[in-house]
This record gives sequence, C-alpha cells and structure tokens, in this order.
Amino acid sequence: MARRSLTIAIDGPAGAGKSTSAQDLAQALGLRYIDTGAMYRGVAWAAVQEGLAPDNRSQVRKILSRTRLTLSDEKRPRLFVNGVDASLAIRTPQVSQAASRLATVPEVRTFLVRAQRVLARGGGVVMEGRDIGTVVLPNADLKFFLDASVEERARRRWKELRAKGKKDSLRSIASAIRERDLRDRTRAVSPLCASPDAVVLDTTHNSRVQVKRLLLDWVRRKTSRAR
Ligand code: C5P
Repeated sequence: MARRSLTIAIDGPAGAGKSTSAQDLAQALGLRYIDTGAMYRGVAWAAVQEGLAPDNRSQVRKILSRTRLTLSDEKRPRLFVNGVDASLAIRTPQVSQAASRLATVPEVRTFLVRAQRVLARGGGVVMEGRDIGTVVLPNADLKFFLDASVEERARRRWKELRAKGKKDSLRSIASAIRERDLRDRTRAVSPLCASPDAVVLDTTHNSRVQVKRLLLDWVRRKTSRAR
C-alpha cells in the first residue's frame, strides 16, 4: 500500500492532541491534513456573527444555505468563511461552545460530512475530528482514537492559551472541556466514540514526539503488512 494514498482518521475529545498529531503525521507522510473541527467552528462563527442560536434547526438551516467554507491546502490550513479568513476568529471559547451546540443539529452534520467526504476523495489525507472513523470515513486505512485525562487536556490548553497571552484559569478551561465532552459524547447523532477498529491511545503521559512515533509505527505496520 502506497503511503501517499493512505486515508487516516484521527478522533478524540478536545485537547487530546489530535490536531498536533494529525499535522505531524500528515507532514511526515506527505498527506493533506484536514481539520473537520474548523468546519464546525466556521459555521458556528457565521451563526454567532448573525446573532443566531447555533442549535436552532431552522436558523441553522438558513446559515448553511448561505455559508461557503474553504480550507486552504497548507501545513497549517486556514479556514475561509464566505471568502473571509476566519482562522483566528474561530478559536475563541465562545465559538468552541457554539460549535459543539451546532454539532448536535443533524442537518449540519449531513452537510459537513458530505463536504468532508469530497475532501477525502482519492485518499492521501489525515482527517481529524469526532466522527471520522465512525461516520465520515468508515473505510479509512487506519483509525486512531486519542484520549487523555481531563486534567492533562486542560493543562495543555492552558499552556497554549498562555503562549498566546491569554490568562484563562486552568479551572475554567477544565470546566469548558468537561461541558463540551459531555455534549459531544451524549448527542443523539454521531456521538464522539471510538470506532471498534480504531487504535485507542491514551496520551496523558506522552510527549508530542512520543505520540508521533507511536502513530508512525502503526502506519509502518499497516503499510508493510499490505505490501
Ligand atoms: O476539534 P474542535 O475542538 O475544533 O471541534 C469543535 C467542535 O466541533 C467539537 O466540540 C465538536 O462538537 C464538533 N465536531 C464534531 N465532529 C467533528 C469535528 C468537530 O462534532 N468531526
């Protein structure tokens, strides 16, 4: 199996290290990195801009009909919403919560899952999200589910935010993560869970480099077995 045509799914809760690992893996293997969370955030941002409730079905339907999302094909892809670069604007705590409320609306999921499958057509992608291995790409060549303790995930977010000059407390970050986890894991449509055929990794005690090595080992095993 050629590495360049691999389809790799990475799922897991907020702050489990999915984005960095997916980017590391994509770079190491020469694959395209696709952040599906950014797509949910983009629609949520559009809803917030217009003062609409992100979990009101009829309001969200309106937003979907007039929102065009574009992900640039870069190492750190940028997200454009109707031509506007929203890459930074979608990273606020307000948009995080709005995105997880929006993600409970079935029409949103149908719309974005379709767009994500188009992006993954032909392979050569590392796609990261909550339902990639279970719903978006059930036939992915490799599926990973990354997890870590809430405390560690909050600590990682806290460090990230501090590096950006933000002063959110560890406690408020942990409570926002808990709230989002609960909503993501218990929603009726495509709840966050590991696909039965996913490699489940707890990264609580692993560094970024260690996780990258672990994932690359799995890729090596997979590609040498398929030869
Ligand atoms: O990954 P990220 O934290 O940016 O995702 C924001 C929100 O979008 C998540 O909390 C989740 O509710 C939703 N999401 C989803 N399915 C995906 C990716 C993200 O429901 N595949």
